[in-house]
Amino acid sequence: MNAFEDYSLIEQMISMLNSEDKALNDESYSAAWQIKDFIDKLPGGFLIYKADGGEEIIYANRALLRMFRCNTLKEFKEYTGDSFRGIVYHEDLDAVEDSIQEQITSSHENLDYVEYRILGKDGAVRWVEDYGHYVRTHSMGNIFYVFITDATEKINKRRQEYTQRLEVIEGLSVNYDSILYVDIDANTVLPYRLSNRLKRQFTKKLEVRDYDGFAEDFVQSWVHPDDKQKIKTVLTPDYIRDNLKENPTFYTNFKCLENNETKYLQLRIVDVRNDGHISQVVIGSRNIEDEIAQEMKQKTLLESALKESKLANIAKNTFLSNMSHDMRTPLNALFGYLELAKKNINDKKALEGYLDKVSATGKQLLDLVDKVLEISYLESKDFQLSEEPCNIKDVTAEIYGELAPEAAKKSISISLEYKNAAHFDVFTDRDKLKQILIHIAGNAVKYTGRNGKINLIVEEKHSPSSEFSTFIFTTRDTGIGISKNSLGKIFEPFERENNSTQSGIFGSGLGLTIAKQIIESMGGTITAESAVGKGSTFTVTLSFRLVQKSDILTEEENIAELINGKKILLVEDNEINLEIETEMLQDLGLIIEPAENGKIAVEKVKASAPGEYLFVLMDIQMPVMDGRQATEEIRKIENPALAGIPIIALSANALESDKRLSVKTGMDAHLTKPIDIPALLKTLSKTLKFS
Ligand code: ADP
Repeated sequence: MNAFEDYSLIEQMISMLNSEDKALNDESYSAAWQIKDFIDKLPGGFLIYKADGGEEIIYANRALLRMFRCNTLKEFKEYTGDSFRGIVYHEDLDAVEDSIQEQITSSHENLDYVEYRILGKDGAVRWVEDYGHYVRTHSMGNIFYVFITDATEKINKRRQEYTQRLEVIEGLSVNYDSILYVDIDANTVLPYRLSNRLKRQFTKKLEVRDYDGFAEDFVQSWVHPDDKQKIKTVLTPDYIRDNLKENPTFYTNFKCLENNETKYLQLRIVDVRNDGHISQVVIGSRNIEDEIAQEMKQKTLLESALKESKLANIAKNTFLSNMSHDMRTPLNALFGYLELAKKNINDKKALEGYLDKVSATGKQLLDLVDKVLEISYLESKDFQLSEEPCNIKDVTAEIYGELAPEAAKKSISISLEYKNAAHFDVFTDRDKLKQILIHIAGNAVKYTGRNGKINLIVEEKHSPSSEFSTFIFTTRDTGIGISKNSLGKIFEPFERENNSTQSGIFGSGLGLTIAKQIIESMGGTITAESAVGKGSTFTVTLSFRLVQKSDILTEEENIAELINGKKILLVEDNEINLEIETEMLQDLGLIIEPAENGKIAVEKVKASAPGEYLFVLMDIQMPVMDGRQATEEIRKIENPALAGIPIIALSANALESDKRLSVKTGMDAHLTKPIDIPALLKTLSKTLKFS
């Protein structure tokens, strides 16, 4: 770089250019002239200027003059102040001179490359590429030979691409608090964006620093002790290369410590070149607190679902094993009695006794199966509570009436009392309400010994609303009581207090489960208090919508009007019943066609014109053909207008299972005897379709 170089020919050319002397004869002058001619005709710019002092311009070729919109070298020199400094756009000058200086100092070839803007005489700014060669000569001192090409289009395009790329990076990296550009070959890291925490690891100017030192600082000052080793490994060049071999990106989650608080972060590492040689990568770090919290929430949900399903499974297995046990006991008894019956086939009295036992045991079995079916029905989607007008006094009086004979058998005194009750007409599912209360009161009779006492109390808790009211149904007995241990479990399926089982009182342990389920679906509660040997108190609390006067009127008026003058088929084998029912129904304006058994009823329907009978009121137990068989026959009639006639069962059987059976056989509804006109009207309003 310090050696003087022989550029004599060029020097000659330059002195010739400067003298503008065209009389050439000497051979070397002729060669110099050819060079000048060649240089002038070059498509790109060519410039020679002094490296020292004012960087005076020695020569500029035509192409360069054209770039500046100058016609002569003189004009060009004037325009640029005869200096390289006048060539470079003033904003770029310092950076250009620094860069040339730095490149020449570090280059063995004394070459440099810079890009800068120039300002033409026409006022247009252009980008140029400048390839310079620094030379030390004898005659001209230190000079630069420079090739300059117009790169406006190329650089603009590049800048545009660069801006676009930046925009893409910005767009894709919005979630990243820190983004670093790392060259793992060169061991450098250049920050693009930094979180406050990472800023401390760079100088204020956010300059390039050594990558390994940065990685070490990052791990030591930031990463949680649990993850320090992991992140240290992840940030090593070898690990990065290995993991970017197959995929252009990978990530790792880790914990960090900030003011003694654990935070969750993610490091994403991307191969930016993606050209097979992994060296330049971008490392982004972002907060994943929300995602982790979400993930944890999901995990907890899954875990609790799993736990629940395990519990459900345990419950199912317990249920099945209890069920099998509870079925085996009466079944074994059945077989036992049948064996005994066979052995005593000739002893009529003994035989009768065994057969009675068979039938009692069979009933228990049926009760168990019915209750299991009921539970599954209550849990099914089909279960729906109806809302119909219901008189609480009537329901409770009915219950009292049904239990009193049973209680009397055991000399139990039973009382029914209303406290504070001002409203008795409410909307509720009457059958279900009765089912609950009769079961609880029935248990009181069942589990109370001779000479005991049972109090049934209905208390109204007035609410400020005139639309709703709360009722507390209390059943108090002086029976065997329930131990503390069992009290918490009596509402669970198959739970029976030992002493009640030992006492030989039959039960399935399902009744209270069913009652509680219905009460809860009605929005109510049930509680129990008890002391062994002293007695138990069951309290059911339910709120009902009160029937307003307008409700009753509209309902009755509507139906009464619609059925007035219509003919119905009344199927009833008992003469007295037929007479009473006929009279009551005639009071409603109905015309009664009687049929004394199912067979006659089927024939009458078959012979009728469609719509002749508004509906059939069907007794169940009848000679020749019972109500269910008759219904099945009617439903089989070919003419669908006759086969589809509404059929309402009117039966002495009031059990829930009877009702379900009626509906299953094809009847539209099931009412119990004695005929209850408001209930019939309510049922008709639901069953009949008036066009
Ligand atoms: P069960 O068909 O066995 O009567 P429940 O579900 O109706 O089934 O009752 C569950 C258990 O609660 C009974 O087996 C009995 O141990 C206890 N129980 C219920 N009511 C009473 C009561 N009034 N007095 C004493 N024990 C009762």
